Amino acid sequence: MNAVLACSAVVCLGGELKLSTDFAGGSVGQVSTVSELHLRVGVKGQADQDGRNRQASWYSFRVSGAGKGKEVILDLVDLPGEYNYQANRGAITKDTRPYWREKNGPWVEAPGDYDAAEPKWRLRIQPKGSEFYVAHIPPYTQKSLELLRKTLKPVAETWGNSLGGRQIEVWTFDLSKGKVDAPVVWVMFRQHAWEAGTGWVGDGFMKNLPPGIVWKILPQSDPDGVAEGGVRFNKAGYDLNRNWDAVNDVAKRPEILAEKTAIEQWLAGGKKIDLFLSLHNTETGEYLEGPPESKLGRELWAALKERTTFDPDREYFSRMKVEGAGRANVIQWLWGVHKQPAFLMELRVGMSKKLGERPGTESWSAFGAGLAREIAALVLLR
Ligand SMILES: [Zn+2]
Repeated sequence: MNAVLACSAVVCLGGELKLSTDFAGGSVGQVSTVSELHLRVGVKGQADQDGRNRQASWYSFRVSGAGKGKEVILDLVDLPGEYNYQANRGAITKDTRPYWREKNGPWVEAPGDYDAAEPKWRLRIQPKGSEFYVAHIPPYTQKSLELLRKTLKPVAETWGNSLGGRQIEVWTFDLSKGKVDAPVVWVMFRQHAWEAGTGWVGDGFMKNLPPGIVWKILPQSDPDGVAEGGVRFNKAGYDLNRNWDAVNDVAKRPEILAEKTAIEQWLAGGKKIDLFLSLHNTETGEYLEGPPESKLGRELWAALKERTTFDPDREYFSRMKVEGAGRANVIQWLWGVHKQPAFLMELRVGMSKKLGERPGTESWSAFGAGLAREIAALVLLR
Protein backbone atom coordinates (compact mmCIF):
# COMPACT_ATOMS: atom_id res chain seq x y z
CA MET A 1 0.00 0.00 0.00
CA ASN A 2 1.19 3.48 -0.81
CA ALA A 3 2.53 5.09 2.36
CA VAL A 4 0.97 8.42 1.45
CA LEU A 5 -2.48 8.71 2.93
CA ALA A 6 -5.06 11.31 2.15
CA CYS A 7 -6.20 12.45 5.55
CA SER A 8 -9.04 14.85 5.54
CA ALA A 9 -11.98 13.88 7.66
CA VAL A 10 -11.37 11.62 10.57
CA VAL A 11 -8.49 9.26 10.92
CA CYS A 12 -5.34 8.27 9.14
CA LEU A 13 -2.90 5.57 10.00
CA GLY A 14 0.85 5.73 9.99
CA GLY A 15 2.29 2.49 11.24
CA GLU A 16 1.06 2.09 14.81
CA LEU A 17 0.33 5.78 15.10
CA LYS A 18 -3.12 7.17 14.55
CA LEU A 19 -3.60 10.81 13.77
CA SER A 20 -7.06 12.33 13.99
CA THR A 21 -8.85 15.67 13.66
CA ASP A 22 -12.39 14.65 14.65
CA PHE A 23 -12.85 17.46 17.16
CA ALA A 24 -13.58 21.20 17.12
CA GLY A 25 -10.97 23.12 15.17
CA GLY A 26 -9.10 19.96 14.14
CA SER A 27 -7.07 20.35 10.95
CA VAL A 28 -4.27 18.56 9.14
CA GLY A 29 -3.19 18.16 5.50
CA GLN A 30 -1.62 15.15 3.86
CA VAL A 31 0.12 12.71 6.16
CA SER A 32 2.69 10.12 5.18
CA THR A 33 4.68 7.51 7.09
CA VAL A 34 8.46 7.72 7.30
CA SER A 35 8.81 4.92 9.82
CA GLU A 36 6.80 3.35 12.61
CA LEU A 37 7.19 6.33 14.94
CA HIS A 38 7.92 9.06 12.39
CA LEU A 39 5.29 10.87 10.31
CA ARG A 40 5.39 13.69 7.81
CA VAL A 41 2.40 15.85 8.63
CA GLY A 42 1.30 18.36 6.02
CA VAL A 43 -0.23 21.61 7.27
CA LYS A 44 -3.45 21.92 5.31
CA GLY A 45 -3.43 25.67 4.73
CA GLN A 46 -6.20 27.63 3.10
CA ALA A 47 -6.35 29.72 -0.09
CA ASP A 48 -8.76 32.50 -1.01
CA GLN A 49 -11.61 32.63 -3.54
CA ASP A 50 -9.09 32.82 -6.42
CA GLY A 51 -6.76 30.13 -5.09
CA ARG A 52 -4.27 32.81 -3.99
CA ASN A 53 -2.84 33.95 -0.64
CA ARG A 54 -2.47 30.41 0.68
CA GLN A 55 -1.76 30.64 4.37
CA ALA A 56 -0.73 27.59 6.36
CA SER A 57 -0.94 28.74 9.94
CA TRP A 58 -3.33 26.35 11.57
CA TYR A 59 -3.03 22.72 12.53
CA SER A 60 -4.58 20.93 15.45
CA PHE A 61 -4.56 17.16 15.75
CA ARG A 62 -4.46 14.20 18.10
CA VAL A 63 -1.84 11.48 17.93
CA SER A 64 -2.68 8.16 19.51
CA GLY A 65 -1.13 4.72 19.51
CA ALA A 66 2.29 5.95 20.54
CA GLY A 67 3.96 3.67 23.06
CA LYS A 68 4.21 5.33 26.46
CA GLY A 69 7.60 6.99 26.80
CA LYS A 70 8.59 6.29 23.20
CA GLU A 71 9.77 9.22 21.11
CA VAL A 72 7.48 10.18 18.25
CA ILE A 73 8.89 12.28 15.42
CA LEU A 74 6.52 14.55 13.54
CA ASP A 75 7.70 16.64 10.59
CA LEU A 76 5.35 19.57 9.99
CA VAL A 77 5.59 20.37 6.26
CA ASP A 78 3.81 22.21 3.41
CA LEU A 79 4.41 25.55 5.10
CA PRO A 80 5.15 28.07 2.26
CA GLY A 81 2.37 30.36 1.11
CA GLU A 82 1.44 33.93 0.18
CA TYR A 83 0.31 37.03 2.05
CA ASN A 84 -1.27 39.98 0.23
CA TYR A 85 -0.12 38.24 -3.03
CA GLN A 86 3.55 38.05 -1.93
CA ALA A 87 5.10 34.58 -1.75
CA ASN A 88 6.67 33.58 1.56
CA ARG A 89 8.35 30.64 3.25
CA GLY A 90 5.39 30.19 5.49
CA ALA A 91 3.61 31.84 8.36
CA ILE A 92 4.98 29.04 10.53
CA THR A 93 8.67 29.72 11.14
CA LYS A 94 11.35 29.35 13.79
CA ASP A 95 9.47 32.05 15.74
CA THR A 96 6.35 29.96 16.12
CA ARG A 97 7.39 26.74 17.76
CA PRO A 98 4.41 24.34 17.84
CA TYR A 99 2.58 23.52 21.05
CA TRP A 100 1.67 20.12 22.40
CA ARG A 101 -0.08 18.66 25.43
CA GLU A 102 -0.69 15.31 27.05
CA LYS A 103 -4.31 14.12 26.91
CA ASN A 104 -5.26 16.04 30.05
CA GLY A 105 -2.24 18.31 30.40
CA PRO A 106 -1.60 22.00 29.76
CA TRP A 107 -0.33 23.33 26.44
CA VAL A 108 3.46 23.72 26.33
CA GLU A 109 5.96 24.41 23.57
CA ALA A 110 6.99 21.23 21.77
CA PRO A 111 10.59 20.02 21.73
CA GLY A 112 12.15 19.97 18.29
CA ASP A 113 13.90 22.05 15.63
CA TYR A 114 12.96 24.29 12.74
CA ASP A 115 14.69 23.46 9.48
CA ALA A 116 14.70 26.58 7.31
CA ALA A 117 15.98 24.69 4.26
CA GLU A 118 12.82 22.68 3.54
CA PRO A 119 11.20 24.49 5.52
CA LYS A 120 9.78 22.24 8.25
CA TRP A 121 9.41 21.81 11.99
CA ARG A 122 10.69 18.46 13.27
CA LEU A 123 9.04 17.69 16.61
CA ARG A 124 10.38 15.05 18.96
CA ILE A 125 7.71 14.22 21.48
CA GLN A 126 7.96 11.63 24.24
CA PRO A 127 4.46 11.35 25.65
CA LYS A 128 3.80 9.85 29.06
CA GLY A 129 0.43 8.58 27.86
CA SER A 130 -0.60 6.88 24.64
CA GLU A 131 -2.39 9.96 23.32
CA PHE A 132 -1.34 13.58 22.85
CA TYR A 133 -2.34 16.74 20.99
CA VAL A 134 -0.41 19.17 18.79
CA ALA A 135 -1.52 22.66 17.68
CA HIS A 136 -0.14 25.92 16.32
CA ILE A 137 -1.24 27.80 19.43
CA PRO A 138 -3.58 26.79 22.27
CA PRO A 139 -7.05 26.53 20.67
CA TYR A 140 -9.99 28.64 21.80
CA THR A 141 -13.09 26.90 20.48
CA GLN A 142 -16.82 27.49 20.27
CA LYS A 143 -17.11 25.31 23.39
CA SER A 144 -14.85 27.77 25.23
CA LEU A 145 -17.12 30.60 24.09
CA GLU A 146 -20.26 28.71 25.15
CA LEU A 147 -18.79 28.29 28.62
CA LEU A 148 -18.21 32.04 28.70
CA ARG A 149 -21.80 32.66 27.60
CA LYS A 150 -23.08 30.48 30.46
CA THR A 151 -20.98 32.39 32.96
CA LEU A 152 -21.62 35.93 31.73
CA LYS A 153 -25.15 35.65 30.30
CA PRO A 154 -24.87 38.40 27.68
CA VAL A 155 -27.91 39.63 25.75
CA ALA A 156 -27.22 37.82 22.47
CA GLU A 157 -28.74 38.80 19.13
CA THR A 158 -28.31 36.83 15.91
CA TRP A 159 -27.76 38.98 12.83
CA GLY A 160 -27.32 36.23 10.26
CA ASN A 161 -25.78 32.84 9.62
CA SER A 162 -22.41 31.80 8.30
CA LEU A 163 -22.15 29.77 5.09
CA GLY A 164 -22.04 26.70 7.33
CA GLY A 165 -25.28 27.76 9.05
CA ARG A 166 -23.71 28.95 12.30
CA GLN A 167 -25.05 32.06 13.98
CA ILE A 168 -23.33 35.42 13.73
CA GLU A 169 -24.07 37.08 17.02
CA VAL A 170 -23.68 40.38 18.81
CA TRP A 171 -23.37 40.14 22.57
CA THR A 172 -24.43 43.20 24.57
CA PHE A 173 -23.32 44.00 28.08
CA ASP A 174 -25.15 47.21 28.94
CA LEU A 175 -23.38 48.44 32.06
CA SER A 176 -24.61 52.03 31.62
CA LYS A 177 -27.27 51.78 34.34
CA GLY A 178 -29.53 53.65 31.96
CA LYS A 179 -27.25 56.66 31.63
CA VAL A 180 -28.32 58.21 28.33
CA ASP A 181 -24.97 59.38 27.01
CA ALA A 182 -22.91 56.44 28.34
CA PRO A 183 -19.96 55.56 26.10
CA VAL A 184 -20.43 52.74 23.59
CA VAL A 185 -17.57 50.40 22.73
CA TRP A 186 -17.68 47.71 20.03
CA VAL A 187 -15.09 44.94 20.03
CA MET A 188 -14.72 42.27 17.36
CA PHE A 189 -13.01 38.88 17.67
CA ARG A 190 -11.91 36.02 15.40
CA GLN A 191 -12.28 37.51 11.92
CA HIS A 192 -9.50 35.02 11.23
CA ALA A 193 -10.06 31.56 12.62
CA TRP A 194 -6.44 30.64 13.34
CA GLU A 195 -6.01 33.61 15.69
CA ALA A 196 -7.03 31.70 18.81
CA GLY A 197 -4.89 33.97 20.97
CA THR A 198 -7.50 36.68 20.57
CA GLY A 199 -10.12 34.20 21.78
CA TRP A 200 -8.25 34.02 25.10
CA VAL A 201 -7.95 37.83 25.11
CA GLY A 202 -11.72 38.05 24.56
CA ASP A 203 -12.31 35.69 27.46
CA GLY A 204 -10.37 37.91 29.87
CA PHE A 205 -11.86 41.04 28.31
CA MET A 206 -15.50 40.02 28.73
CA LYS A 207 -14.97 38.71 32.25
CA ASN A 208 -13.60 42.08 33.34
CA LEU A 209 -15.80 44.72 31.75
CA PRO A 210 -15.73 47.97 33.71
CA PRO A 211 -19.07 49.66 34.52
CA GLY A 212 -20.51 52.80 32.97
CA ILE A 213 -20.25 51.60 29.37
CA VAL A 214 -22.41 49.85 26.78
CA TRP A 215 -20.22 47.01 25.50
CA LYS A 216 -21.14 45.51 22.11
CA ILE A 217 -19.16 42.37 21.31
CA LEU A 218 -18.84 40.47 18.03
CA PRO A 219 -17.43 37.33 19.66
CA GLN A 220 -17.04 34.97 16.72
CA SER A 221 -16.75 36.49 13.24
CA ASP A 222 -15.81 33.21 11.50
CA PRO A 223 -17.62 30.45 13.40
CA ASP A 224 -17.18 27.97 10.52
CA GLY A 225 -13.44 28.47 10.47
CA VAL A 226 -13.16 28.15 14.24
CA ALA A 227 -15.25 24.96 14.22
CA GLU A 228 -13.66 23.36 11.17
CA GLY A 229 -10.04 24.34 11.58
CA GLY A 230 -9.96 27.16 9.01
CA VAL A 231 -7.17 29.68 8.70
CA ARG A 232 -8.30 33.11 7.45
CA PHE A 233 -11.04 32.62 4.83
CA ASN A 234 -14.69 31.66 5.01
CA LYS A 235 -16.03 28.53 3.29
CA ALA A 236 -16.23 30.35 -0.05
CA GLY A 237 -12.66 31.59 0.29
CA TYR A 238 -13.36 35.16 1.33
CA ASP A 239 -11.13 36.89 3.83
CA LEU A 240 -13.50 38.20 6.49
CA ASN A 241 -11.23 41.15 7.19
CA ARG A 242 -11.07 42.21 3.55
CA ASN A 243 -14.09 42.56 1.25
CA TRP A 244 -15.85 45.10 3.50
CA ASP A 245 -16.06 47.41 0.47
CA ALA A 246 -17.36 44.63 -1.81
CA VAL A 247 -21.04 44.45 -2.71
CA ASN A 248 -23.15 42.76 -0.03
CA ASP A 249 -23.50 39.10 -1.03
CA VAL A 250 -25.26 36.72 1.30
CA ALA A 251 -24.26 33.72 -0.85
CA LYS A 252 -20.55 34.50 -0.63
CA ARG A 253 -19.95 36.58 2.49
CA PRO A 254 -22.93 36.29 4.85
CA GLU A 255 -20.66 36.73 7.87
CA ILE A 256 -19.57 40.22 6.77
CA LEU A 257 -23.12 41.13 5.79
CA ALA A 258 -24.47 40.11 9.21
CA GLU A 259 -21.87 42.13 11.10
CA LYS A 260 -22.21 45.10 8.77
CA THR A 261 -25.98 45.09 9.25
CA ALA A 262 -25.64 45.00 13.04
CA ILE A 263 -23.26 47.96 13.00
CA GLU A 264 -25.19 49.99 10.42
CA GLN A 265 -28.52 49.49 12.17
CA TRP A 266 -26.96 50.66 15.41
CA LEU A 267 -25.73 53.83 13.70
CA ALA A 268 -28.97 54.28 11.75
CA GLY A 269 -30.81 54.27 15.08
CA GLY A 270 -28.91 57.43 15.98
CA LYS A 271 -26.64 55.59 18.38
CA LYS A 272 -22.95 56.31 18.69
CA ILE A 273 -19.73 54.33 18.72
CA ASP A 274 -17.06 55.86 20.94
CA LEU A 275 -14.51 53.23 20.00
CA PHE A 276 -14.47 50.16 17.74
CA LEU A 277 -11.67 47.61 17.94
CA SER A 278 -10.93 44.44 15.97
CA LEU A 279 -8.44 42.03 17.56
CA HIS A 280 -5.93 39.95 15.60
CA ASN A 281 -2.86 37.77 15.98
CA THR A 282 0.34 37.79 13.94
CA GLU A 283 3.49 35.72 14.24
CA THR A 284 5.89 38.45 15.38
CA GLY A 285 4.30 41.90 14.91
CA GLU A 286 2.38 43.81 17.57
CA TYR A 287 0.71 47.17 16.96
CA LEU A 288 -2.36 49.38 17.02
CA GLU A 289 -3.63 51.17 13.92
CA GLY A 290 -6.61 53.38 13.24
CA PRO A 291 -7.71 56.77 11.93
CA PRO A 292 -4.97 59.30 11.10
CA GLU A 293 -3.88 61.67 13.85
CA SER A 294 -6.26 60.04 16.32
CA LYS A 295 -5.77 61.33 19.86
CA LEU A 296 -7.81 58.40 21.15
CA GLY A 297 -5.62 55.95 19.23
CA ARG A 298 -2.38 57.46 20.51
CA GLU A 299 -3.66 57.55 24.07
CA LEU A 300 -4.83 53.95 23.96
CA TRP A 301 -1.49 52.86 22.48
CA ALA A 302 0.41 54.67 25.23
CA ALA A 303 -1.82 53.44 28.06
CA LEU A 304 -1.57 49.84 26.91
CA LYS A 305 2.18 50.09 26.50
CA GLU A 306 2.60 51.56 29.95
CA ARG A 307 0.19 49.45 31.95
CA THR A 308 -0.29 46.12 30.14
CA THR A 309 1.82 43.50 28.40
CA PHE A 310 1.16 45.21 25.04
CA ASP A 311 4.64 45.30 23.49
CA PRO A 312 4.34 47.24 20.22
CA ASP A 313 7.05 47.11 17.57
CA ARG A 314 5.94 50.41 16.07
CA GLU A 315 4.21 53.65 16.99
CA TYR A 316 0.47 54.12 16.55
CA PHE A 317 -0.17 54.53 12.82
CA SER A 318 -2.83 54.79 10.14
CA ARG A 319 -3.35 53.11 6.78
CA MET A 320 -6.83 53.99 5.67
CA LYS A 321 -6.08 53.84 1.95
CA VAL A 322 -7.75 50.73 0.50
CA GLU A 323 -5.39 48.75 -1.73
CA GLY A 324 -7.78 47.86 -4.56
CA ALA A 325 -11.40 46.73 -4.84
CA GLY A 326 -12.45 44.13 -2.28
CA ARG A 327 -9.45 44.83 -0.06
CA ALA A 328 -11.02 47.10 2.58
CA ASN A 329 -10.83 45.75 6.10
CA VAL A 330 -13.45 46.46 8.73
CA ILE A 331 -11.75 49.57 10.10
CA GLN A 332 -11.08 51.05 6.67
CA TRP A 333 -14.78 50.60 5.93
CA LEU A 334 -16.00 51.96 9.27
CA TRP A 335 -13.72 54.97 9.11
CA GLY A 336 -13.99 55.55 5.36
CA VAL A 337 -17.75 55.15 5.00
CA HIS A 338 -19.08 56.00 8.46
CA LYS A 339 -16.30 58.16 9.97
CA GLN A 340 -16.25 56.05 13.12
CA PRO A 341 -13.19 55.76 15.43
CA ALA A 342 -12.25 52.23 14.35
CA PHE A 343 -9.02 50.53 15.39
CA LEU A 344 -7.26 47.25 14.69
CA MET A 345 -4.81 45.59 17.03
CA GLU A 346 -2.33 42.86 16.21
CA LEU A 347 -0.90 40.74 19.02
CA ARG A 348 2.07 38.48 18.37
CA VAL A 349 2.00 34.77 19.12
CA GLY A 350 5.81 34.59 19.05
CA MET A 351 8.26 35.64 21.75
CA SER A 352 7.29 38.70 23.79
CA LYS A 353 10.26 40.60 25.20
CA LYS A 354 8.04 42.23 27.75
CA LEU A 355 6.70 38.90 29.03
CA GLY A 356 10.06 37.18 28.69
CA GLU A 357 8.25 34.27 27.06
CA ARG A 358 5.61 33.54 24.47
CA PRO A 359 2.11 34.61 25.45
CA GLY A 360 -0.13 31.81 26.67
CA THR A 361 -3.74 31.42 27.67
CA GLU A 362 -3.27 33.14 31.05
CA SER A 363 -1.23 36.10 29.85
CA TRP A 364 -3.65 36.64 26.96
CA SER A 365 -6.59 36.56 29.31
CA ALA A 366 -4.84 38.98 31.69
CA PHE A 367 -4.14 41.28 28.75
CA GLY A 368 -7.84 41.16 27.86
CA ALA A 369 -8.71 42.41 31.35
CA GLY A 370 -6.16 45.23 31.03
CA LEU A 371 -7.43 46.15 27.59
CA ALA A 372 -11.00 46.51 28.88
CA ARG A 373 -9.78 48.61 31.82
CA GLU A 374 -7.70 50.98 29.63
CA ILE A 375 -10.41 51.39 26.99
CA ALA A 376 -12.94 52.19 29.71
CA ALA A 377 -10.66 54.74 31.36
CA LEU A 378 -10.26 56.57 28.04
CA VAL A 379 -13.84 56.59 26.81
CA LEU A 380 -15.22 57.54 30.25
CA LEU A 381 -12.96 60.61 30.24
CA ARG A 382 -14.15 61.87 26.86
ZN1 LIG B 1 -6.23 38.53 11.52
